[in-house]
Order: sequence, then structure tokens, then C-alpha cells
Amino acid sequence: MSSAETIANLVLDRLDISRVDDLLLLKEIVYARGAILREHPLEGAEACLLVGPGRPIITVSSSPLISHHRRRFSIAHELGHLEMHRGTGLLINCTKGDIQDMPNDTGVDTEQEANQFASAFLLPARFVEKPFVENEPSFDIISEWAMRLDTSLTATSFRFTRFTPEPVAVVYSVRGNIQYFQPSEGFAELGVFPDVKNPVGSNTDARRLFNGMDIKGEWREVRALEWFRDNRDAFDKTDVIREWSIHMPSYEAVLSLLWVHKPLGEIDDW
Ligand SMILES: [Zn+2]
Repeated sequence: MSSAETIANLVLDRLDISRVDDLLLLKEIVYARGAILREHPLEGAEACLLVGPGRPIITVSSSPLISHHRRRFSIAHELGHLEMHRGTGLLINCTKGDIQDMPNDTGVDTEQEANQFASAFLLPARFVEKPFVENEPSFDIISEWAMRLDTSLTATSFRFTRFTPEPVAVVYSVRGNIQYFQPSEGFAELGVFPDVKNPVGSNTDARRLFNGMDIKGEWREVRALEWFRDNRDAFDKTDVIREWSIHMPSYEAVLSLLWVHKPLGEIDDW
């Protein structure tokens, strides 16, 4: 467990959060942790934390361009700075680039720590671990919890990979190119990698969505080689995996769940 996750759990314990609904009250949570939450126009930042002589102040941008979920994530990110880094500076300004709901475990950068805190705080293990372990992977279970916890589908999907025992990866593609992926532990052991920085395969649902086609929101079988970099040791040419893709037009993005539902590389047919 990362230290950010441990601290997020501790803070949730101190706040005595045992019901999902309690997590929706971020303003009250910030106050209960000794700070004040404000919404203001901010220049060059999405959120900031000011620790002065009085109560620390978390300010989140009031820009209408920022989505409700993004704003919640930014508040939790600043709360993370308050809980973990308050000794390191009086003013922390966080830009759009600093606040990322895509996990990145490399390094000990304070921005990454604040992001890990936000994810663990808004999607706590105490609520999501059991349903994410017990249920088969699907956007149904992910969107159900995104709705209940008032978080984005993207942040919830990435969090899903942390708990599912199935070999699943979440892939985020923008304008037709794979930008980022996050594997579950079971997926990471397979030695297959979505082809980051390259176009999504031409026979994938992700490609169909980028091409403006309508597809059914459900699992579909697709050749593994449509998604993975050539790796003859890890899979065969005819191997299939499951793909479920969802269009996020406001980000020009597609979010895909990939599920290796049966073993790869058993026939060696290259
Ligand atoms: Zn930050």
C-alpha cells in the first residue's frame, strides 16, 4: 500500500467516514480537517493551498470549463497536500498538469502523492474493494461506483485496476492514439503491453468510436494483436481478448477496458 493510500485511510478514519454519503460533503470534510474551502477564479492554476497564520485555505477554480468531478478531484488533491506536505511551503499552486487522475507510481513527487491521496480518498478501499474484487470486470460496476461516489469514470476505472483479481487493463486514448494504460496486478504479469503512443488497432471498438461509429456498450472479442505490441513470447496471432470501449467526446478520448479472459500464447501460431 502506498503511503498516500495509508494516510488517506487514516484521515477517513479520523473523519469517521463509514457511509458513502459522508464522502460527498467535501466542504464539510475540509472544514473538519481544519481548513476552509473556497471557489474563486484562479489564474494559471486549477487549485491551490494557502497555509497562513489562520486556517489553511484550499481554493478551487470556479471556471465553468472545469467539470464537477474534476473539481472534486482537485479539492481532494489539495487536501492531500494539506495532510502530507503542509510543512513544505506556505502556498502550493497546482496546475492542470499537476492534478492528474491517472495513477503514476514512479517517483515520490509531491504532486503524484497528492493525486494518489485524492484517488484513495474519493474511492476508498473500505467501499470499493469488495465490489471490485467480487464482480466481474465491466463498465457497469465501474459506473455504478462512479455514480455513488461522485467521481469520474476515468478515475474510477483506474482505481478498479488496483483491486480486481482479473487480468484487466484500462487504456486511455486521445484522438486515435493510445496515451496511457494502467494494468491490474494480474495483467502486469502477462508481459503484454498496449502500444502506447501508437494508433489504436483498426479493428477495435476504440477505433470505431474515433471514427464516429455507434457501438454497443458491452464486451466484444478482439484479436490480441489489435491492442498489444508484437510479442511472440507472450501471445499468439490468433489469440483473442475482450474489449469494452466508451467514448468521451468532450476530451476527444476513448476509455477502454481490456480483459484477458483466457490464457494467451498456448498455440504458437505466428
Ligand atoms: Zn498539487
